[in-house]
Amino acid sequence: MKRLERLRSALREKGLDGLIVTNPTHVLYLTGFSGGEGLAIVGQNVAQLLVDFRYVEQAERESPGWERIKVPQRLRDTLAETLQKDGFQRVGVEASHLTVEQWQSWRDFFPNLVWEATTGLVEDLRLVKEEAEISAIRQAAELTDRAFEHILGFLRPGVTEREVALELEFFLRKEGASGVSFPLIVAAGPNGSMPHHQPGTRPLAPGDLVVIDMGCVVDHYCSDFTRTVALKPVSSQAREIYEVTLQAQQVGLAAIRAGVACRDADAAARQVINEAGFGEYFGHGLGHGVGLEIHERPRLGPTGEETLAANMVVTVEPGIYLPGVAGVRIEDLVRVTPDGIQDFTAATKDLIEL
Ligand code: ZN
Ligand code: ZN
Repeated sequence: MKRLERLRSALREKGLDGLIVTNPTHVLYLTGFSGGEGLAIVGQNVAQLLVDFRYVEQAERESPGWERIKVPQRLRDTLAETLQKDGFQRVGVEASHLTVEQWQSWRDFFPNLVWEATTGLVEDLRLVKEEAEISAIRQAAELTDRAFEHILGFLRPGVTEREVALELEFFLRKEGASGVSFPLIVAAGPNGSMPHHQPGTRPLAPGDLVVIDMGCVVDHYCSDFTRTVALKPVSSQAREIYEVTLQAQQVGLAAIRAGVACRDADAAARQVINEAGFGEYFGHGLGHGVGLEIHERPRLGPTGEETLAANMVVTVEPGIYLPGVAGVRIEDLVRVTPDGIQDFTAATKDLIEL
């Protein structure tokens, strides 16, 4: 219930009587309910979870400490009854999740309440991870490392990107992941220059660099991992962009510790790529937070405004993308510590040539 108390204190600071939590990730974070539908109402003396018939039993198991309220028909009617009992006057909603349609309909339906759009209340709580969260992320990262070992025996000319992605997903799920943390990326040869390429029917071919970006979910927590491997023969250009990316990643990893501004970590790595003349081919940020979601705060990019703190979990993933030619990305998942990092990704970064 520590999370709930932290949220209550944030509500007091904002002068809100309560918050209606609609984002399913936030409902999960606060209540433990993982059904993906339903909402939570939090006030100083209120901890309510509203679910419909389909989820009553699941909510009972997952959220024992919460007052569970069954929604028989229309959510709005149950919400009206509940809010009346709660006696709230100023109520917050999650601006990043509630639709404009719901927002308008609730305001019309509850004219006596003062509604306030809030931003980041639960996200703020999620920035720094607890030990149990870190342990789940670490398990997901270990499984991802094993999937990479496994796939090395599968990569050869003629196998398609999609076959590689499917084999990875099958391995991850068979070995205990509840799912993948995003649609896996396998980008071979010229497809590698698209950072979020969707695996297609292109067969791997001699001379390809192959970008493999994958992650899985363990106990609701995500991992995120990228390695780029080569199919022989390796061109000197491919070797060069690989070496520059690796050097940038090492500088990025070395720049990370509690107290460092996210944008400074990004700048340190970016400088390596800029100085090598590939600056315009590194068009995304250095990394991002990982937790219940694959992309969450903090954002490590040129415009990132946050400062790293101990027990944030972030990726470090510079890349170089040469349109129509090839791409390289190398990504580790790390825990920020007071004097550096704990790296959860163990796979080698020596260029693997198959
Ligand atoms: Zn990734
Ligand atoms: Zn990532």
